[in-house]
Amino acid sequence: MRLALADVYAARSRIAGVALRTPLVPSPYLSKIAGRDFLLKLEVAQPIGAFKLRGAANAIAALPATCAGVACCSTGNHGRGIAYAARARGLRAVVCMSELVPQAKVDGIRALGAEVRIKGRSQDEAQIESARLCETEGLAEISPFDDAHVIAGQGTIGLELLEDRPDLGTILIPLSGGGLAAGIALAAKAIKPDIRVIGVSMDRGAAMHASLQAGHPVEVEEVASLADSLGGGVGLANKLSFALCRDLLDDVILVTEDEIYRAMQTLYYEDRLVAEGACVVGIAALQSGKLPALKEPVATIITGRNVDMNVFTQVVTGQDVTLGDMTVKGQSYGA
Ligand SMILES: *Cc1c(COP(=O)(O)O)cnc(C)c1O
Repeated sequence: MRLALADVYAARSRIAGVALRTPLVPSPYLSKIAGRDFLLKLEVAQPIGAFKLRGAANAIAALPATCAGVACCSTGNHGRGIAYAARARGLRAVVCMSELVPQAKVDGIRALGAEVRIKGRSQDEAQIESARLCETEGLAEISPFDDAHVIAGQGTIGLELLEDRPDLGTILIPLSGGGLAAGIALAAKAIKPDIRVIGVSMDRGAAMHASLQAGHPVEVEEVASLADSLGGGVGLANKLSFALCRDLLDDVILVTEDEIYRAMQTLYYEDRLVAEGACVVGIAALQSGKLPALKEPVATIITGRNVDMNVFTQVVTGQDVTLGDMTVKGQSYGA
């Protein structure tokens, strides 16, 4: 399937009533640092606390009435979106996740009525389990990022951004499997061809960045990160999101765990927002001086708030954070 702007508009009507139109708010503090309007697209306001409801709702709305249920792999938020949208349609949902997924996210998905399977140490192993379930139990598989309906659903963010701010010059997008970046870039560039779209990932285990460098999808070792929602591969047999990111992204920037830590503090203390490490990478890129010169207003997507509250408390109180075999050194805000 070739995706076009019309698919994004179709997604918007399909998901209306399940996913919300979210506010785009200026951050006075970050605007001062950027020297121009720096805007936050608050996907934390979605009913599941993350943008992934958009793509999940669109994919589930597109399933045939005879469908027995859905299965997916997830680093947490896609599973939450699938669970929520499946329940709204009265469908069975099975979410496969790796052992790296934080407990808070596992609990959140169970609370929405989905079945959870924990399998292996990587998103790829969880994906194999999801494919197996589809084969043996007749479920429909919905990829978290490499699915035309999911990409079109995430793309509805691009429509809203340019409706609210037609003068927008740059969009900074947290980048993992690339469904979000592909959808937004597709919609935004169809409407405004000269807009710049920049993906941002953590510097350890960034599968899309490594794949773009190699010119084809490659595997990377999955490691613990404050940006846990950005972990996982792009799939060696990637059909859509890799090519779209290759063709539509102007740049990909990588940020360190220290920079993510500080950006989480900044968003909390300056804008009073509780958010996951994954969604502050655009702020981290700004604060670390890694962004190219920006001319017009800039927006970043505050993609989700489903953070482990122990980790979040450690970050905002300046304590060390240990995740797996990695420790991020604590630092008080403003120090
Ligand atoms: C999934 C996710 C992303 C990245 O989206 P992709 O489509 O995989 O690139 C970013 N932030 C959060 C909070 C997510 O859950």
